[in-house]
Amino acid sequence: MANAEVKNQELWGEGVSRELARRRAADIFDLRYRLSFDLVPGAARIKGREEIKLRLNGVTDPVILDFRDLDEQGRVIEGVVGDVTVNGSAVDDLRQTGGHVILPARHFKIGENTIAMNFETGIAAANRPVIRYQDRDDGGEYVYTLFVPMDASLAFPCFDQPDLKARFTLTATVPTAWTVVANTREQTVTRGGANSSWVFHETHPISTYLFAFAAGPFNEISGASGSVPLRVFVRQSKLRRAKEEWPEVERLTRQGVDHMAKFFDQPFPFTKYDQVLIPGFAYGGMEHAGATFLREDSILFRTVPTKNDKLGRAALILHELAHQWFGDLVTMRWFDDLWLKEGFANFMASHAMAAMERRRDLEGKAEQRGGSGGAGEAAIWKRFYQTHKPPAYSIDSTKGTTPIYQEVRNLKDAKSAYGAIVYQKAPSLLRALTFVIGEEDFRDGVRLFLKEHAYANAEWSDLIAAFERASKQKLQSWADAWVKRRGAPQVGVEWSCDARGLIDSFEIRQRDILDEGGVWPIKARILLAYDDAEAQRITASFDGERATIRDAVGRKCPAYVFANDGDFGYGVFMLDAKSRAAVMSRIGGIDDPFLRAMLWGALWDAVREVEMNPRDYVALVLKALPTETDLELTQSLLDRATRAFERYLSTTEQGAIGPQIESLFFDRMMNAGEADLRITYFRAFRSAATTVEARNRLKDLLSGKMRAPGVEIKPLDRWRIIAALVAREDAEAESLLNAERKRDISDDGRKQAYIAEASRADAATKRRYFDDYLNNRATPEDWVEGSLAAFNSPNQSLLALPYLGPALEALPQVKRERKIFFTLAWLNAFIGGQRSRQALDQAREFLRANRLDRDLELKVLEVMDELERTVKIRAKFTEPG
Ligand SMILES: [Zn+2]
Repeated sequence: MANAEVKNQELWGEGVSRELARRRAADIFDLRYRLSFDLVPGAARIKGREEIKLRLNGVTDPVILDFRDLDEQGRVIEGVVGDVTVNGSAVDDLRQTGGHVILPARHFKIGENTIAMNFETGIAAANRPVIRYQDRDDGGEYVYTLFVPMDASLAFPCFDQPDLKARFTLTATVPTAWTVVANTREQTVTRGGANSSWVFHETHPISTYLFAFAAGPFNEISGASGSVPLRVFVRQSKLRRAKEEWPEVERLTRQGVDHMAKFFDQPFPFTKYDQVLIPGFAYGGMEHAGATFLREDSILFRTVPTKNDKLGRAALILHELAHQWFGDLVTMRWFDDLWLKEGFANFMASHAMAAMERRRDLEGKAEQRGGSGGAGEAAIWKRFYQTHKPPAYSIDSTKGTTPIYQEVRNLKDAKSAYGAIVYQKAPSLLRALTFVIGEEDFRDGVRLFLKEHAYANAEWSDLIAAFERASKQKLQSWADAWVKRRGAPQVGVEWSCDARGLIDSFEIRQRDILDEGGVWPIKARILLAYDDAEAQRITASFDGERATIRDAVGRKCPAYVFANDGDFGYGVFMLDAKSRAAVMSRIGGIDDPFLRAMLWGALWDAVREVEMNPRDYVALVLKALPTETDLELTQSLLDRATRAFERYLSTTEQGAIGPQIESLFFDRMMNAGEADLRITYFRAFRSAATTVEARNRLKDLLSGKMRAPGVEIKPLDRWRIIAALVAREDAEAESLLNAERKRDISDDGRKQAYIAEASRADAATKRRYFDDYLNNRATPEDWVEGSLAAFNSPNQSLLALPYLGPALEALPQVKRERKIFFTLAWLNAFIGGQRSRQALDQAREFLRANRLDRDLELKVLEVMDELERTVKIRAKFTEPG
């Protein structure tokens, strides 16, 4: 191939290559889109018209727009365009290839140009850029867009890259009964007979993936006036529920806006803030500028929420809100810096929650003597630890991990950048950085960064430069180690005491978990714990493989040592043998819930590193649970005990210990002091119930014959009980499933019935479902995603095993057609549902024999790690020989 042809292939090939993006960003300025969409109820296609205004720096190259469509099988084809003009003249020599519309250079001039055309795009229940939700409960049709990371170019011709920000003016023609929500407020609404035309104000410069609209017979709830107008939009059938939840949602949003505007020293960047609740939305939320879309279930709970569930919702609301500054006002130049926006959004959500708690603590103190003195704030950082560190460490210790900064050569691969590395590791590193440079310099650096790049784009190096200026510290090597290198350190301590009972040596060590030779700069706080004295804390910084902590030498000999007190450091902090034994004998009596949670985490790491017998961990958890009152910690202990029980123990061990687990969970569900704890145990009991006795109790809860005090059984709970009974092949399960189908004919009822049936333990069901997953485009994506775990129920690994191979083979299709988080859910279900060496060998063989895209290969390696550990743990502790 000639050189020029190679170059063109790179520019015109599928997706948006980095090279194409660079060239366009250098050539194109002052971009404006004027877009009209004609939304017809029930139609499979949407007709649209657009006018693009742009200034060009040079006219030697053709102008390449991105626009593609999908055929019936979901394969990429060229998009439908018509009446194309440039500067008023018809273009009869355009080319369409690789999902691009190529307009020859001769039509353009230096300076301002106008491109205009008609176009068409698809709309469906799933796998399309514009998604339709048909509400069977109220008969309404709702339509919404979801473009991240590069599906705007599935909906209309555009320059689909984050650093070509544009001002958008939207016109939407819809049935008169509909309401349209977009990035800005409507300017005019012209109501005709059957149809109305909504014209919106021009937006600030925003990236294509942040442009959005939603339309349908939405109801609106408006907030009280404040620094920015707040509204929530909800479908008709959920208006009453939304009104119940709105005061709390409004309070959080309002306090979040105030906290962030102050912390960032930058007012809310857009003219209004709407939150649109969308049933079956593919993610928890998506931060379109001025109009966040949220999954309806994440805001309007379907079961009685615990305090934990409410904190999760608050974190989601604040995460999306933080994006209005971090992501929308200042946007990454390219998706290799995806972590910048996701890391900040998660970090700022906790930061805002901690500030709200701090205020509440202070108010509490003023009112009643001796308030809790920061306990609320500490609880938020404990929650941050529990929701971030274990998932981050568990991917970072696999061969599938990536650096925080992930090279993305083409935007069509950007979906794979999403995962625990950007959502959990990146915010953890931001917290670590606050410890390195201090809260104030951190804040000042962020302020500089936002000011300098407002309504524009920036990279990680810009942020590090801002932190360096604010802190007057050199941070480049810190940044390179943590952001550019993959993996994490495993950190251990070695210490001894002399005959006088004083520490005579104390060394801290790190090793690269992946053995790739990495060492990291670490700043952490070491805890020396005593039975008969206050704990002592030492701040330590080191960047070599080992360091002597002189400050510790000569101090009183501790009962145990933990090297990441306060959770400022990032790494797998292991307990030394002496400390582990001491922690195991004391853990229930450790008063500080934050420390207790981290020590339980360190013990779990010992199980995962094949140092501690999972049976001992389960036994320790069962001993501790009756007196454990911290809700979050209880939840994570229940999850881990269940996980160890289902995956690591042998069938014989399960038979021996199962009834003990069931009866403890049942007892706590009935008798725990706090309603939230009883609800938490109810959920755990439901998934642990295997014996006849336990299943009968589930049925009694279902029929109302038995009640757990304060545990209200909602429709979703009923479905989950039934799914559990189906999975366990209970004799009455099928008749209960049929009865429930008749009883709950709501939309969600249909979805839950689909999920429950996937857990049926027979080969015909599995065959039918698997075919549905790959070939039936009418099944909504959230139904499929919701049913994957049921398909792979823990007791059905043999039935699911024949689908491991086909599931792996389908990966390219899954990546192409499904939304961002689906691939990982798919792998977690099909690989994660297995625990045998046979399954592991099969997955390894698949990787050996197939050339997968690198991003997919990494995802497989990531998920296979848990199966590898399971096989190792079972070989050492469970299976004899
Ligand atoms: Zn986000």
